[in-house]
Amino acid sequence: MLKITKEQIDVLVKLQDIEIKTEVIKSEISEVSVKLDKFDNELKTFENEIDEEEKVIDAFKQKYRLGETDLHVNNTKAEKSQEKLKLVKTNKEYQSSLKEIDEIKAINSKIEDEMLQYLENIETSEKNILKKKESYSIAAKKLKQERDIIIKESEQGRKKVSQLDKEWKTISNKIDPKLLTKFLVVKEMVSGRAIATVEDAVCMGCNMQIPPQTYNELQRTDRLEFCPHCQRIIYWQKISG
Ligand SMILES: [Zn+2]
Repeated sequence: MLKITKEQIDVLVKLQDIEIKTEVIKSEISEVSVKLDKFDNELKTFENEIDEEEKVIDAFKQKYRLGETDLHVNNTKAEKSQEKLKLVKTNKEYQSSLKEIDEIKAINSKIEDEMLQYLENIETSEKNILKKKESYSIAAKKLKQERDIIIKESEQGRKKVSQLDKEWKTISNKIDPKLLTKFLVVKEMVSGRAIATVEDAVCMGCNMQIPPQTYNELQRTDRLEFCPHCQRIIYWQKISG
């Protein structure tokens, strides 16, 4: 049966405290990449919106150019009709040519109205793009600052983890190797905290009541005791107050 002193218990608790601190920092570090991905996605959203708006502009420009082509074709037609007008012999032919010219003019005027609308739409979209680019550069600047802070913090975190590792090794070197082995075996077995206090006959590792005899021995003897439920190393802690 392994004997244990109050000092040795304190060392084990200290080792466990270091492990807990390390876990906290490591989980913070692992969240960093999630945060950085979130930043990238925010910027990507802006970029996509700008791309979409540019596609809208391209579509209107395309329509505008088609309008130009149609106008050109119709103007040529109108000129031809105008020429024909000089050569007509009957009033009927004359009226028919005039009608043709009027129809072409009406179509062209409609096309011109549409083209004006396209220009207005292009202008609106260009304004939107300007606004979005402005928001993008503000967001990019802000996110870069946050990114720098987070990266710096995670570097500090990594340094802190390596300091804690060293501290753990230094402390663990000073204790009885048999006790350390036991501690490590229990830690492996419970996949986490190897040592727990017992308060008011309850193991704080698993929240189960320990038998009265074990509880009595825990308070009176200097033997290494284990929780009969979770197998953690247990030690007695007098409840203050
Ligand atoms: Zn327990």
